[in-house]
Amino acid sequence: MPEFVLRVGSRSAQGMRSNNEDNLVVDVRQQLFVVADGMGGQDRGEVASAMAVDLIPRIVHARLENHESADRALLHAMLDTNKAIVDSGRSQPEGRRMGTTAVVALFHDGQVYISSLGDSRAYLVRGYDVKQLTVDHSVAQALVASGALTVEEARFSPYQHVLHKFLGCAELNGATEVSPFTPQVGDRLLLATDGMTNHISEEDLRIGPKLHPDPQTWVDLLVQKALDHGSRDNVTGVVIAFEQAP
Ligand code: CA
Repeated sequence: MPEFVLRVGSRSAQGMRSNNEDNLVVDVRQQLFVVADGMGGQDRGEVASAMAVDLIPRIVHARLENHESADRALLHAMLDTNKAIVDSGRSQPEGRRMGTTAVVALFHDGQVYISSLGDSRAYLVRGYDVKQLTVDHSVAQALVASGALTVEEARFSPYQHVLHKFLGCAELNGATEVSPFTPQVGDRLLLATDGMTNHISEEDLRIGPKLHPDPQTWVDLLVQKALDHGSRDNVTGVVIAFEQAP
């Protein structure tokens, strides 16, 4: 098994919005990375995504210290953060409740553990292969999965941005998953909010790491591309490069 050095680039852009409800964390010590896209009236979306990037690393750390396995630690971090956001919302009047997406990657003992709620995504770029590792928890995607809509119809569905699973979801009932993969030297992992993923192509992901091996350079270009392509949303990405240790 190769020894890896992880190099990481990250950027979050407010874009044309009056505030930035996206948040990210690059936790180098734990090799844990989170991208979150908050939802809610007034400033509540920002509060929810800030809670996610604050709580998830702290809960993972505490549970790993307590000798839990990485997948259980991450699973519980998602469930406990969900509960914290639901509880925090309960103290607020209706209309000030909140939620957030979160896509998380944890590199631990040679494996990468991915968990996601909402429609922020993780992509693995390996050589010229691009693989989306997460499923969008949007109503439109659920209708595609059940055969009610085609992929093309879903792109224009009013339900494309309606989420049925996210952090801050009172009816989550433990419904979240953690899936691991074994990284290879040269892999690029991208975590991104929909403000980015709606405005970049699979070709951008396939070619980008070859043209821009430095992860910070590449994520800067991806953010700029999404903005240049008319993203009116906040745009956020984290790129993790798995390189051979010297
Ligand atoms: Ca967004």
